[in-house]
Amino acid sequence: MTSVYLSERQRSAIKTLPKVELHLHFEGCIQPESIEALARSIDQPMIRRTQDLYSFKDLEEFLSTLDWICNLVGSEHEITTLSQSLVNYLRGQNIVCAEIIINPSHWRLSLDSLLPPILAEFARAESQFGITLGLLPSIGRHQKNADAMQLLDWCVSNSHPNLRGFSIDGSERGGSRTDQFVGAFKKAKESGLGITAHAGESSGSQGVVAALDQLGVDRLDHGVRAVEDPGLMSRLAAEGIPLNVCVSSNCHNLYPSFDQHPLPQLLAKGLICTINTDDPAMLDINLSSELVAVADAYDLSLGDLKQLQLNAVGAAFCPLDNKAQLARQIENEWSAIT
Ligand SMILES: [Zn+2]
Repeated sequence: MTSVYLSERQRSAIKTLPKVELHLHFEGCIQPESIEALARSIDQPMIRRTQDLYSFKDLEEFLSTLDWICNLVGSEHEITTLSQSLVNYLRGQNIVCAEIIINPSHWRLSLDSLLPPILAEFARAESQFGITLGLLPSIGRHQKNADAMQLLDWCVSNSHPNLRGFSIDGSERGGSRTDQFVGAFKKAKESGLGITAHAGESSGSQGVVAALDQLGVDRLDHGVRAVEDPGLMSRLAAEGIPLNVCVSSNCHNLYPSFDQHPLPQLLAKGLICTINTDDPAMLDINLSSELVAVADAYDLSLGDLKQLQLNAVGAAFCPLDNKAQLARQIENEWSAIT
């Protein structure tokens, strides 16, 4: 089915219109061909055939594949190359603002080798191409408070204009407990970093409550299972906490199809939602294809999609003057397509 509210002209314009994406993992943007080249360079056999590399049976297999991929990377030069590939992908999609989650626990490189090359590349891309880029270091849900404090201390000691937030991600199946990270997230907030958390995916609505009450999140990654608790949806709407929704990703891990996804209910309840891809290389999608798929599934118009983009501008952790400029750009360019 295609959206009756989206003309062919509008549909094809989406790829070239300026866009914002806030829920995107550095690790999930690495193309299989880059991984094959990395493995070949160190004589490592591929874990699966290149064309099947991103075929997973569940979230746990997905996370173990991630660890294998990240372990192939052994130098700052390779991280810089991957960062450049990411910037090229964003430019190809005309994503003018992106905030990228990276979880150092997947990587064998130290924080000092892993994060500075990415930040340097983001700063270069900002000045050269005018893209607004933020990096959000993330703690794994399985980790300990000491790990979170170590990562946060690194962020505070290595303050950088493109280091914009602090995050928690990873499988929630082991439980939605986050109380062990309360101190680290409080300190992150006090240091001026934006706070975001993966919650309300595999953990259910109680994971969202924990993220709100224990971590003090500014926004949520996923958060979609808040739909199971009407009181929680009212709270999220009243407090204006944005949900960085990834419909295709959720339909890989959580819901059987777009028809079963709760995005329409969340929007109808007045929640602030943004549209994202989560792991585009792994899911073989991109932000343009995702926006079209969402519009088609829920009969959205170009104006609706523009509003979802403006929601992302509002939820971004970049400076206020950047946000004002991004909002003007999106308003003007999206409104010009009739
Ligand atoms: Zn994610």
